Amino acid sequence: MQRYRADVIVVGAGLAGLVAAVEAADRGRSVLLLDQEGPQSLGGQAFWSLGGLFMVDTPEQRRMKIRDSRELAAQDWYGSAGFDRAEDANPRAVADAYLDFAAGEMRDWLSGLGMRWFPVVGWAERGGALAHGHGNSVPRFHLTWGTGPGVIAPFVARAEALAKSGALTFGFRHRVTELDLKARRVAGQVLVESDAPRGVSTSREAIGAFEAEGQALILTSGGIGGDHDKVRRHWPVERLGAAPKRMVSGVPDYVDGQLQGLAEAAGAGVINGDRMWHYCEGIQNWDPIWPNHGIRILPGPSSLWFDAKGQRMEAPCLPGFDTLATLRRILSTGEDHSWFILTQAIIKKEFALSGSEQNPDFTSGKWGEVIKARILNKAATAPVEAFKEHGADFVVADTLEALVEGMNRLEPQSPLDPARIRAQVEARDREMENPFTKDAQVTAIHGARRYLGDRLVRTAKPHRILDPKAGPLIAVRLNILTRKSLGGLHTDVKARVLDARGEVIEGVYAAGEVAGFGGGGYHGYNALEGTFLGGCLFTGRVAGREV
Ligand SMILES: Cc1cc2nc3c(=O)[nH]c(=O)nc-3n(C[C@H](O)[C@H](O)[C@H](O)COP(=O)(O)OP(=O)(O)OC[C@H]3O[C@@H](n4cnc5c(N)ncnc54)[C@H](O)[C@@H]3O)c2cc1C
Repeated sequence: MQRYRADVIVVGAGLAGLVAAVEAADRGRSVLLLDQEGPQSLGGQAFWSLGGLFMVDTPEQRRMKIRDSRELAAQDWYGSAGFDRAEDANPRAVADAYLDFAAGEMRDWLSGLGMRWFPVVGWAERGGALAHGHGNSVPRFHLTWGTGPGVIAPFVARAEALAKSGALTFGFRHRVTELDLKARRVAGQVLVESDAPRGVSTSREAIGAFEAEGQALILTSGGIGGDHDKVRRHWPVERLGAAPKRMVSGVPDYVDGQLQGLAEAAGAGVINGDRMWHYCEGIQNWDPIWPNHGIRILPGPSSLWFDAKGQRMEAPCLPGFDTLATLRRILSTGEDHSWFILTQAIIKKEFALSGSEQNPDFTSGKWGEVIKARILNKAATAPVEAFKEHGADFVVADTLEALVEGMNRLEPQSPLDPARIRAQVEARDREMENPFTKDAQVTAIHGARRYLGDRLVRTAKPHRILDPKAGPLIAVRLNILTRKSLGGLHTDVKARVLDARGEVIEGVYAAGEVAGFGGGGYHGYNALEGTFLGGCLFTGRVAGREV
């Protein structure tokens, strides 16, 4: 049995855990940072992320002529969150504190740590309905140079330096299986070493046991998106419809929610477990890293989006507008999949794939690579072209009839009628000549192109889908992709964990996704994107400074 004592025990070495550990150790506390994975997975999901951060009224926004403010961001946040439960008091308080941070010291703090952002600010999750409702009124998604690896880099470097000086001890391959919250004691298994590459499933074979006691305990074990049974158990059937039978996994399988279950059994309060954030635009990774690995397409606004029955979906179910409304709309057909129909011209300009490894140019942090991959290149980026060639969900054809035939080969149980698809595509194409238009998506495309950033890198020049010069035609079968848990351990604005009655459990803290990114669900029902990494940075910092 290995025994440890430290001032602070942090369970989970993802972004939230790293930030909390570094902040606590920098304040003179001895820190033990435990993770069930090996050193090669340090940084958790954040490594794989695109590195997009929700920040407000930044120099990057101002340079792009985006006028943002704390007030506008709060209007968007509250319009999206739709907080409507008594237990939303702490989530609201954390949302307010995060908005202060995102409009205040966040950028300077991160920039002081060496982080930089791509100058074109992204416009994620636009909402597409009412001004006071869900969505970002302005672009706010700040893509970090170096993507996810660039976000974790300063904290990894600092943690490694603190480990060298003895202020921080890493406990890799330590899986916590017992929690005593009152005693701030954890215990578990030491797992057999693994040389599996980052993200690949590792063995759960135990070769020993450990226990650790501290004055404070910080839980940063991530969400539940890797365990599809748990996702289905928590699925909000009344809001979204029956849970999908088929889903792809947007997270490695260590995102299993096991520690959250242990914490709940040990007396911690868990709230908003039915609020979650899964994407509609998942594609099966042809070169998977983790089991059932799916990649999310971050689509620009022009792809035509059809449900599984072949009906083009209405606003706000447009690419990049309203994730949960679209999820509900897709599931209302009784099927789990939907379809994009687009052109080569659209895929080239509008398809981004979410993931650091899918954006080697941004991940390299080098301008030359970005220009080569996205501007000089006639094709889409190499990872997008590779999906087009090898991806199980892609069909490429020169005529619409051949395209639909290919789609029907992928989904023979739900065949589409080529004449019905043609009628809808031709009707939409007619709107390209119509300076008025009643097609909400066409209006949205024109709106997007009024923003210089979208015009430059995100929105294809409007064209007819059936224009052979824009071809070939492409169809993509889209799967539901599990990703984020919006609910979790109930915490207060100081990141202290509360029990089931709402009382503070002394010395126990939680940060990041396990705490619903703060408060037990600071997003409410809907997220604005970039708020996941943002929430890990914010709540990890609060917890590390509080202990
Ligand atoms: C492909 C991808 C793209 C993304 N892009 C973005 C983006 O652009 N912007 C954004 O805001 N968000 C993005 N996200 C989401 C964001 O990366 C995650 O929500 C966030 O990193 C979660 O961090 P965390 O520290 O809370 O948890 P995690 O990163 O999941 O870390 C938790 C750690 O706890 C460990 N652990 C769990 N249980 C135990 C146990 N019992 N004992 C010991 N260790 C345990 C795990 O092994 C893991 O290392 C993306 C995510 C992915 C996967």
